[in-house]
Formats: sequence, structure tokens, C-alpha cells
Amino acid sequence: MRLVLTAHGASRGSALGRARVRLPHVLEVSEAHVEDVDAELARLHEAIRVVRGEMHILRERLHGALASEVGEFIDLHALLLDDPELLHGLDTLIRNGRYTADYALRLQRDRLADVFAGMDDAYLRSRIDDIDQVIGRIHAALHRRDADTQGVAGEILVTDNIAPTELLQLQSQGVLAVITAGGSMLSHSAILARSLHLPLVVSAQQALQKINDGDVLVVDGGNGLVIREPDANDLRAHRARTRDYARERKQLNRLRREPSRTVDGVDIKLWANAESREDVAEAHALGAAGVGLYRTEFLFLNSARLPDEDAQFRAYRDLVLGMTGRTVTIRTLDVGADKADRTGLALTDEPNPALGVRGVRLSLLRDDLFETQLRAMVRASGYGPVRVLVPMVCCREEMVAVRALLKRVIEDLKHEGQAVAETIPLGAMIEVPSAAIALPGFIGMLDFISIGTNDLVQYLLAVDRNNELLGELYTPLHPAVLRLLHDVIKLANKRGKPVSVCGEMAAEPLFAPLLLALGLEELSLHPARLLEVRRAIRDCDAGALRENLPALLRAHDRIGIEKWMQAFAGPSPV
Ligand code: PEP
Ligand code: MG
Repeated sequence: MRLVLTAHGASRGSALGRARVRLPHVLEVSEAHVEDVDAELARLHEAIRVVRGEMHILRERLHGALASEVGEFIDLHALLLDDPELLHGLDTLIRNGRYTADYALRLQRDRLADVFAGMDDAYLRSRIDDIDQVIGRIHAALHRRDADTQGVAGEILVTDNIAPTELLQLQSQGVLAVITAGGSMLSHSAILARSLHLPLVVSAQQALQKINDGDVLVVDGGNGLVIREPDANDLRAHRARTRDYARERKQLNRLRREPSRTVDGVDIKLWANAESREDVAEAHALGAAGVGLYRTEFLFLNSARLPDEDAQFRAYRDLVLGMTGRTVTIRTLDVGADKADRTGLALTDEPNPALGVRGVRLSLLRDDLFETQLRAMVRASGYGPVRVLVPMVCCREEMVAVRALLKRVIEDLKHEGQAVAETIPLGAMIEVPSAAIALPGFIGMLDFISIGTNDLVQYLLAVDRNNELLGELYTPLHPAVLRLLHDVIKLANKRGKPVSVCGEMAAEPLFAPLLLALGLEELSLHPARLLEVRRAIRDCDAGALRENLPALLRAHDRIGIEKWMQAFAGPSPV
């Protein structure tokens, strides 16, 4: 029977397909034995080989803003797959107990869960989730016949929640859309789904109860609707939406060479957040002003060894060369907190890592490493314009120390006869509330400012950016966030310092009018969203938006901000 579920649209697009329901992961396998132990071992090892291959493909396909964080999960899971403790344990269970591979997985999982449960450290205890995911993947691979490895093309996944890594894989397998019972619109998965143009509906609380495997579904990712057993009207509406989206993509492509100019003639500078070669090429092709954020941790997270000066220099130089004379903004290392690396650089036993040795704090503690990184950046400046950006700044003193070190590095390299740019602008990420509030005291020593809304929202609202349980609490649509953004942008504009937003907020077209109203004229975002944001800017009247700023700043809550957005800036948020 036809049924409409109303939820939240997290990634636009329309899909028609059959449901595949994935119930929350519990390895419900009952005890079973095999005759042929060797065949069972071979079956298990083949499944592990398949999963390793999948991980490898995922890692290769990974690029863009989420590369560092998602990549880290994949690397960790790949390491677990090679873990002798895990593998040997499974082999022993199958050999000695003559268990099926499935049951051995379950026993091994339960054994490890007991070990993890007994750990004092909360972080380590939570790592059982990773074991669960890896064991879940092996279990899924055990039941996939060869012909099935193409997966679930044409299906719509209905699940409790989804990890960013899974989204990549599902899309490559031809999954048309994803519906989750939990999740939020600003989660990493939602951000990634939008970049992948994969329709995603979140917070569909009834989905797991009301949808069965094989049900025909229509998903409207823009409006957050799921229709079970659609009727003729629903199918017509789906076809119309699909046509509209296709037309829209075509129109967007026409904007590749157009300026990012508002209707009243204000030019907005669109920078790219780019790390991979593909992102850089795309940024270039779409007419990005330059690279507004290059996250260098990407180089440190991908390898088990620290990259030396030459390795870093080559990466930065290639970035500069790739942008053919457009400025690139290279951010100094921002490992720590959730961005743990494999080199052992980030501390792992901090009681409160998000408030611990992260970003510039780590760089200033490890000045050998910091100097190496600055030397590589300064050397790259000999090949084209480079700006140096410092993450997690919380006070003036940190920028004084960085400025002094940069000055010395430049002098040393000149002394050594290296080609160095005439000027290397130095900027600070404003992503810690104290830096935003204390900015009047040190803006004079900055050449530019980049506002990291991902962290600013997290630290200002005390809402962990990675905790999906907190859902809608993590949002830039909060009066405190808007007022602080306004203070920073106003001050920077008054002092003639270039200021941009480089957090995910900049990549959301619906937020563009709001940021323009706040006085922003530069945004930095992943190239996948650049054309959509350009189109949103071209629909804005910057003068009119700024006239209506007082009403925006008077909003008491999210509802008030959304009302302002509807009144002055078109439809409701994402
Ligand atoms: C931010 O915090 O907004 C930001 C761009 O930095 P990252 O997401 O790398 O922490
Ligand atoms: Mg940040």
C-alpha cells in the first residue's frame, strides 16, 4: 500500500528503485560446523581478500575535503584486516572448532568486544565499532557470489545510519539513493553525499519499520520524502524531477566560464579547497580564484613516515604549478583531535583531544617539524604565489611565534640561494572563539583571515562536529555563530584584510545569501560545489541583503534565521 514518509532531505536528487533494508549491524549467526575445514578457511580468506581489494579501491577514489578524515578510517580498517591477532584467531576457531567462517567471525567479534569493554580508556573502548565494521564487511563478503560483486545497482539502501566510506562504495556499486533512520543534514556523510550528488534522506525515523526488502520506493532527496509503493502520480512527479535535475546540471555547466558576480555587480571571489590532483585540475577548470585551503595533514595521514622537506616541497610546488599563477593557500599541519595520523605525531592519550595539542599548538611544540614544513612552503613560493595559513590559533602569541619563525626561514633560504617570493602573506584560521573575540588585538599582524566554520561552530556551541547523536545542534544557523561571524568579517573589512570562509558553510548554496549579507566577499569550497554556489551568488542582490542584515542579527533562534532566509534569500535551508 502507498505510504509517504516525511523526513529531512540531506542531498538533492530523485530516485526510483527497490529497497534494500539493512538492519542495524548485529552479527546474528548461530553455531554451525563444517566438514571440510580447508574449504572453509579458503572461503574466509577469499572474503578477506575481497574486502582488502574494496578498501584499496575506496582509498584510491578518495579525494577532496573529506579525504583526510575518511581516509583515516579506511587506513585503520585496512590495518585491522592485516591484524595477526584477528586473522590467526579466526583460523584457529575454524580449524579447532570446525566452525563455519560466519560463526568464527561472531565468536571472534564477541571475544574482542569483551577485551575492549574491559579497557579503561573511553576512546579505545569505542574502537570496537571499527572491529564491528571490519567484521561486518568480511561477513558481507562471505555471502556475495561472484556475480553479486557488482553489488546492488538500482537499489535504494534503507539503513539506520551510514558512514562516509560506505557512501563512496555504494555509489560506485550503483546504489541510487540512501535513506537513514538517524543522521543529520550537516554530518560528514551528508556533506559527502551532496558532493557525490547521491540523493540522501536522513531522520526517516519510521523507515526501518515501514519499509521491507524489495518494496518499490521513490526518494525525493530535495524535499526529504520517501514514497513506498508509489502510484502513477508519484511516478510522473519523479520523472519530472529527474528531468529538472538533468536540465539544472546542464545549466550549471554553462556557468563554468561565467563570473561569480551578484545581480548588483559585486564580484565574489571563489577559492577552492583542494588537495588531490583531480581537485586542483577541477578548481582550475571552473575558474576558481586560487586554492583557498590546502590541508597539509593529507600528506601526513597517508603515510606511515613523516614526509621530509623535499617530499613536502615537491607536493607544494606541484600544487603551485597546477594553479598556473593563481595564489595557493597552504595550511600548516592540523593533526590532533579527530585527525590522528599514522606517524605517531598526534598524541593519542590526551584526556580531551579536541581541546588538546592540535594544529598550531603541535607545530609550536615540535619546532623542528614546523621549520621543515615552513621551509618547504617557502621554497614552493619560488614557483608561484603562496600564502601560509595557520590553523587552530587561539591567541596573539601564537601568531607572533609563527611570524618570527617564518621570517627566519625566509632569511635562511635566501641566504642559501633559493628562489623565494617577494612576499608570502601569513594568515590565521579563525576557528577558535577566543581568537575571533581577541582578533582586534592582533589583526594588525595578519595579512589575511580564513574563517573555519567547521570548528568555530563546534567550539562556540560546544557541539562535537563528529557526533551524529547531536544532530541538528551542530549548525551555523545559530545567533551566536552569525554574530561572531559578523564581528570578524566587519573588522577584517574595516582594516582592509582579505577574509574568507573555508568551512563547509561556504559550500552550501543556500547559505550564500546569508554570508553575503554578513559582508563576506570571498568563499573557499570544494570544487564539486563551486558551480552551485556560483549560481546562488549570481541570484543574490548583495546591496539588498546587506540592508536587511540588522533583521538577521536580531533573530533569536534558528527558526528566526530560517525565516529571514526564506524572506530575503529564497527557499528553506538544505
Ligand atoms: C574548519 O574548521 O572550518 C576547517 C576548514 O578546517 P578543518 O575542517 O580542516 O578542521
Ligand atoms: Mg578546522
